Amino acid sequence: MTHDSRLTTIILVTLTITLLITACSDDYPDDILLFTNVTIWDGTDQSPAQNSALITHNGKVLEIIDMTDPDFPEEADAIDLGGRYLIPGLINAHGHVGMARGLETGTDIHSEENVIEQLQLYARYGVTTVVSLGDEPDEAFTVRDRQNFSESGMARLFLAGPVLNPATPEEAHDAVNELALKNPDWSKIRVDDGLGTREKMNRETYAAIIEASHSHNIPLAAHIVTLEDAKGVVDEGADLVAHSVRDTEVDQDLISLMLDRDICLTPTLTREISVFIYAERPDFFDDPFFLDEADPEVIEQLQQPEIQERFTGRAANFYSEALSVAKGNMMSLHNTGVRIAMGTDSGPPARFQGYFEHLEMEMMQDSGMTPLEVLTSATRYAAECMQIDEELGTLEKGKHADFVVVDDNPFDDIRNLREIYDVYIGAQRVYRGNN
Ligand SMILES: [Zn+2]
Repeated sequence: MTHDSRLTTIILVTLTITLLITACSDDYPDDILLFTNVTIWDGTDQSPAQNSALITHNGKVLEIIDMTDPDFPEEADAIDLGGRYLIPGLINAHGHVGMARGLETGTDIHSEENVIEQLQLYARYGVTTVVSLGDEPDEAFTVRDRQNFSESGMARLFLAGPVLNPATPEEAHDAVNELALKNPDWSKIRVDDGLGTREKMNRETYAAIIEASHSHNIPLAAHIVTLEDAKGVVDEGADLVAHSVRDTEVDQDLISLMLDRDICLTPTLTREISVFIYAERPDFFDDPFFLDEADPEVIEQLQQPEIQERFTGRAANFYSEALSVAKGNMMSLHNTGVRIAMGTDSGPPARFQGYFEHLEMEMMQDSGMTPLEVLTSATRYAAECMQIDEELGTLEKGKHADFVVVDDNPFDDIRNLREIYDVYIGAQRVYRGNN
């Protein structure tokens, strides 16, 4: 089919559906939406296309079309995006929802309302999907199962449930069977001795958990710190390395393993920052993009000397040094073709949801990734790596119409993503207080 006839077909189909809807019902006036006059990057290997329009149908992508085509339809109800930039909604491949409120944690703060507010916060920053990797309250499952993300302006949610920590391989099956009852999207383990403060899960045990998890078709994300443990979990079949290797430089063995098994990494660079940055007042406490959403009370608390004290000492020193190791390892893996999925570990106290995703992407760019590579990591790769790419990650036909519109060109500098004009989830506008 030629381009012209294909376009004509699209327009005819579009108009026919519009007429049918008008004829049958007034309940769905926005069933078909046309977003015009915008440079669109669909998240694939195609270059961003200027003078384009996005057509959505029932909250899904119908087509991206070229507005300079002479057959481009006159459409009175088009949403004119004024020559801005449109990209797929950002995906955080490693967050946490509902487990903290400000600096507080524990069951007292567990509520559906808290989960919903956090998902709305992510969405206002353009993060339209969050994969929450563990220890969410039950209320998070209730919110996930309601599936009304576009109506309520919340980021879409995927969950891992309680982090698995059986003591022996024998206990692994029971632990996974219990988790499976919650219908989690992922499972999660921690292979970490807390800098020598606790016993680390042994290889036999995590091998048994991974096997049990796979027997329920649940992919498994592994928290690791060391190179040795990264190799161990990937070799035993883990589906995601959920943090950067932070003790030493990655080697060819790990790179080969991750490439062979097609396993991704979430760098969580901002997680390292959160362990030491509040020892002194961080610069971003003066950043308007942070202050737009941050709770003044939390900012105040984080400047109290007794709180600042918590961000000093052995762990703070270790992770402060680990940050440069993490960045170097992220780039070593990226440069050899291992897919990096943008993931921050935001959500626990003082890891600011929404803002930290932008900080993470800026750190990825500052470490040597191009803006396009960072954007790919935060959209298509994050979706592929988290096994949600059938519906998310790109703006291809049939996928959810989740997208961010920004004023300035994000392919010049990832910091231009801060100039958010609008966010849409399922083609519905997310209320951001300014529109
Ligand atoms: Zn985490």
